[in-house]
Amino acid sequence: MTSDPEAPICSSRGCRNTAAWMLLWRNPRIHGSDRVKRWAACDEHEPVLREFLTARGFPCETQRLP
Ligand SMILES: [Zn+2]
Repeated sequence: MTSDPEAPICSSRGCRNTAAWMLLWRNPRIHGSDRVKRWAACDEHEPVLREFLTARGFPCETQRLP
């Protein structure tokens, strides 16, 4: 496992927290199965972003960042 020296920042609008999670998702209507979008999320916004995706029926996988 390689660690990124530049810690990702939360993708939530206006949030500048260091991300603790990575959400891997795609929109099946516009993305092929090989196309995966990545959103970084802090502890606070991980449930918010995941809810946003699952509410739209997008396949979503959450990974804890090292
Ligand atoms: Zn955040």
